[in-house]
Amino acid sequence: MVDLRGQYDKIKSEIDIAIQECINSTRFIGGPVIERFADNLGKYLDCKYVVPCANGTDALQIALMAAGLKPGDEVIVPSFTYVATAEVIALLGMVPVMTDVDPDHFNITKDIIRQAVSVNTKAIVPVHLFGQTAPMEGIKEIGEEYGLTIIEDNAQSLGSDYTFSSGKKQKAGTIGQIGTTSFFPAKNLGAYGDGGALFTSDDQLFEKIKMIANHGQSKLYHHEMIGVNSRLDAMQAAVLDVKLKYYEDYINARQKVAAYYDQAFAEVSDLQIPHRHKNSTHVFHQYTLRIMDGRRDELKAFLKGKGIASAIYYPVPLNEQNAFRGKGRLVGDMSVTKALCDQVLSLPIHTEIDKATLGFITEQVKSFF
Ligand SMILES: *Cc1c(COP(=O)(O)O)cnc(C)c1O
Repeated sequence: MVDLRGQYDKIKSEIDIAIQECINSTRFIGGPVIERFADNLGKYLDCKYVVPCANGTDALQIALMAAGLKPGDEVIVPSFTYVATAEVIALLGMVPVMTDVDPDHFNITKDIIRQAVSVNTKAIVPVHLFGQTAPMEGIKEIGEEYGLTIIEDNAQSLGSDYTFSSGKKQKAGTIGQIGTTSFFPAKNLGAYGDGGALFTSDDQLFEKIKMIANHGQSKLYHHEMIGVNSRLDAMQAAVLDVKLKYYEDYINARQKVAAYYDQAFAEVSDLQIPHRHKNSTHVFHQYTLRIMDGRRDELKAFLKGKGIASAIYYPVPLNEQNAFRGKGRLVGDMSVTKALCDQVLSLPIHTEIDKATLGFITEQVKSFF
């Protein structure tokens, strides 16, 4: 699905120097490399504060803690997402309120949220799935209407631009009160290990996030609140700071792959190519087809037989996971989520795919139908 080795080979000399400098300095935890990366990422996103942390799941947990939510508070999440989005809500004793998603862009919308709000609802965690920003204008409106905190799970859409009806553009993850991301190696901006970050432009939330990520510490050995230990290490920051310079090129490369796939599959009637939301650019963390003739698993096995990777994100709705039995509140019949779980198939998409590989993949997919 990805070619991390091919990507490394292209920037090997820079990465090797950055890692070696880190070892020479022996500043493995904390220090200037991490601050520089956070600063550069903040500039790229046009966001006042970036707080690096250990992974994208921690980022979500820290965000919920910083938002001042309490056990029993309800948090609205889509049921078609990775488990981490809702796991941390349940872990903190809050109630994940699981909703269906839009059939075109697979994200939650203002109207879906409206059906889910109750007097106990305190926050929304929209997920910018597969590379596209959820319709944040409406989500922001309803958040303001009910006084809900918006925490954007932006593990998959770093760099995606959202355009408001006023024409104003903002990057995914910087629109709500807090945004989170993951630097898991296979994410669009991937480290050589685990990593994550939180985004905010609110001074008070920034102080709180920093404190919570560092044992609730205001100064050394003075703890104001219960926190966690969640750090991005310096070697990962060094790698990420190199890769950030090429990040727009990486997005362009992914968009070219998507355009190639789109064209190749335009005539295949049983395939639905990824929809583009008119207000969002797509950074193609995944290129996800909908297989409309019921033969998704057959196609996956067929491709495997030809040596072609494919993946199902996600095969089971959150509300059907055993872990959440009795822990959430469900809204609606989840018919879209259910259909997507049976129909979606993601094809290889990354920065190193060549035309020959794309030609082979698309020919094989077409030959199946
Ligand atoms: C990857 C991912 C996460 C979790 O990130 P980790 O760094 O693996 O903890 C959270 N939410 C979504 C939507 C993800 O894709």
